[in-house]
Amino acid sequence: MKLETVFARIYRELIEMGCLGCGRQNGGRMGQEKQKAPAGGEKRMSRRTGMLLLLLLFAVLTALAVLASSGALGGLFTSRTTTVEQSEVTMDTVASLTATGPEAEAQAAVDESLERLRELDALAGTGPDSDVSRLAAAAGNGEWVSISPEVYHMLAVAREYSERTGGAFDVTTGPLVALWGIGTDAAHVPAEADLEAARALVDYRALELGEDGQSARLLRSGMSIDLGAVAKGYALDELRRIYEKHHIENGLINLGASSIYALGHNDKGTAWRVGIRNPRGTGEEDKLLGVTTLSGQALSTSGDYERFFEQDGVRYHHIFDPRTGAPAQNGSMSVTVVVDGGTEDAGLLSDLLTTAVFVLGPQEGQAFLDDMSDEVSGIITTQQRDIYSVRGLGERLSNVLNTYTLH
Ligand code: AMP
Ligand code: MG
Repeated sequence: MKLETVFARIYRELIEMGCLGCGRQNGGRMGQEKQKAPAGGEKRMSRRTGMLLLLLLFAVLTALAVLASSGALGGLFTSRTTTVEQSEVTMDTVASLTATGPEAEAQAAVDESLERLRELDALAGTGPDSDVSRLAAAAGNGEWVSISPEVYHMLAVAREYSERTGGAFDVTTGPLVALWGIGTDAAHVPAEADLEAARALVDYRALELGEDGQSARLLRSGMSIDLGAVAKGYALDELRRIYEKHHIENGLINLGASSIYALGHNDKGTAWRVGIRNPRGTGEEDKLLGVTTLSGQALSTSGDYERFFEQDGVRYHHIFDPRTGAPAQNGSMSVTVVVDGGTEDAGLLSDLLTTAVFVLGPQEGQAFLDDMSDEVSGIITTQQRDIYSVRGLGERLSNVLNTYTLH
């Protein structure tokens, strides 16, 4: 029965009942009751109280009706469970969102999530008004630039890991990204002098974060930050919070397959199955390196296949080694990291760690992941087609391509 109909019925019944208590003598049960009740005063008192209670109930129901029709009660009254799926090109990727729950809640979770991705893109992207662009414009002039709490948080975590990886990860890679132009029509191998000049501008220690939690500055002119290695991961955490706010227990937040957060289970009631790209896949049959299940976890992958060009047999990709100023060439082909959802910044960490470990290379990278907490697992694929596994992620993969050797 429709909500409005329910309220209309209750409303009608209340009016009828209200008339019982209003003291009119003409017919109906009231008259009969009155005759049956010798202690008339007492009866009148209880009727008045009854009236008040009815009025109160009526007021509460009316308020609920107003709230429900304004959508403020979300899916409380529309409990039909449904799966909402929507995709949109944003944050340099195709975001595909799936949410299962009460219809209104699932739709609201997806709508709000897409809106949030657009907002984050405006803050963390390279548009003229973004925090990234404003920081670059003020680089070297000594002034603090006010930035959003979102970008501040990304920078704070990024700085910490820049330190912990000895600069293999560096959020100030902007000048290298701009110089090489990988993934754009201007992609090229730069002249040595230009490369040296750009490399000298990459230094996370020259990124200062204000104690107010909403400002930062770059100490040298020409410096710029690049959030390409962390923004999608941060977005996973944000969207997951939006899903949880809307009580969505089952869903998939997929930001271009390189960053995924899985909540609960899929429509079949089993953990989500997520394929990990074969970095050298050429066709449908060898497209995936393997498949993992995911539930309440964030998964990110970084690989040298995402954006690259080849020249004289060398693959120039988009993940730079700040120490050389060139795309990292130390044997990594791809890195996948899974972080349990119970960990703070799970999405952000998975995204950041894949890039950091890629640059560190298979051996150092594996050791780095080994030293992380138990909530972090991963695999590193190498150019020799080896898979190095950390905390069992490699062993948990199914359908692993037999052209790779798992260690
Ligand atoms: P991902 O695909 O998550 O590994 O991120 C790669 C992106 O991060 C690149 O497109 C650059 O924008 C940025 N980046 C490249 N090299 C580094 C690095 N060594 N440290 C931090 N960010 C980097
Ligand atoms: Mg990353």
